[in-house]
Amino acid sequence: MNQPNIDIDSIRKQFPILHQQVNGKPLVYLDNAATTQKPQSVIDALTKYYSVDNANIHRAAHTLAARSTEYFEDTRKTIQQFINAREAEECIFTKGVTESINLVAQTWGRKFLSAGDEVVITALEHHSNIVPWQIICEEKGAILKVIPINDAGELLMDEYEKLLSAKTKLVACVWVSNALGTINPVKVIIEKAHAVGAVVLLDGAQACSHLEVDVQALNCDFLTVSSHKLYGPTGVGVLYGKRALLEAMPPYQGGGEMIKEVTFTHTTYNEIPYKFEAGTPNIGDVIAFKYALDFVSGIGKYNIATHENDLLNYFSKGIQLINQSTNQSITLIGTAQQKISVQSFTINGMHHFDAGMMLDAKGIAVRTGHHCTQPLMQRLGLDGTIRVSFSVYNTREEIDILLYALTKLLRLS
Ligand code: PMP
Repeated sequence: MNQPNIDIDSIRKQFPILHQQVNGKPLVYLDNAATTQKPQSVIDALTKYYSVDNANIHRAAHTLAARSTEYFEDTRKTIQQFINAREAEECIFTKGVTESINLVAQTWGRKFLSAGDEVVITALEHHSNIVPWQIICEEKGAILKVIPINDAGELLMDEYEKLLSAKTKLVACVWVSNALGTINPVKVIIEKAHAVGAVVLLDGAQACSHLEVDVQALNCDFLTVSSHKLYGPTGVGVLYGKRALLEAMPPYQGGGEMIKEVTFTHTTYNEIPYKFEAGTPNIGDVIAFKYALDFVSGIGKYNIATHENDLLNYFSKGIQLINQSTNQSITLIGTAQQKISVQSFTINGMHHFDAGMMLDAKGIAVRTGHHCTQPLMQRLGLDGTIRVSFSVYNTREEIDILLYALTKLLRLS
């Protein structure tokens, strides 16, 4: 494998949170799929915004408002470039991927779904790409269909093709599984959906910090992005949508900013993206999000992915060695050919929650449970897993600490 061109020490120095002791041990943070840590540049941008620039955006004549508006709109231009959207106006700020998906379900879904129509999702979905579709399908009498997976956690593409028909109105698909790390073949999924006239929403929550994103090359209709999984603040997300679709959709929420003119009898709506941004948005966090995007672009996705893949391989080999000497006591869950650096596993004879607590006692942060993918866990016959997720600032030394801690845990199980 090619070596990544990155300096991990200097990257780690940019993350103040990593340099602390937890339970008397140096923190080993391996819960990046839940949320990534934030570089100093993002923290500084937030502090500066509230120390120097704070004002409401878009509607005032004064200097602070002009400055805040300019910085807010700078982030929109930066995310446009980051995902290669045709226009910045196609990028709507939300409070996260959950809100982005609900927005599409409640606007596009409310207008374009009718009784008997079908919405296709996958067995890998996070609850946030299941429940909003269940709600709107129930309301409209539409039917939710699910693409099944194999035991490795890969979509059964033949089954997908069988699900598609003229009734399919929307395919809502996670790009990268948060529970298993599977990278779905989204280009093919999109092409096949378009061939039957369906619209495609990609849940990019986990993909955008690891993979190159080009919405024009992919030709997806919607893409959802989460700032907090991309080294940015919580409470900020993006909904990308093709202009024609966004213009055809009714507004999501009513209020300030989303209007052109209001009388007591009638309201006309603003242009996109403002039509979907009612009320005062999370201005400071949106402004700081730009610095997170710059952080990622500065290192480069290729370098990030190469480093993270190295960590995943190193971890997998370490588990193989442990299994050889402990009679296969660890089972890796999610072994797709195409994966990002997320690995679920179970330990024979030990509940995932207990394992998580014992690792925490050693300063190691992992996630345990169903990872907001209960239907996936049901398909796998599990009530939960232990999940490690590696990020650009993690190191092989940290994985050694984890592997050593797991060996000690196995003696207890
Ligand atoms: N989809 C996936 C695949 C996720 O991993 C997550 C977050 N765990 C979400 C959606 C929800 O994202 P957000 O926290 O931005 O609402």
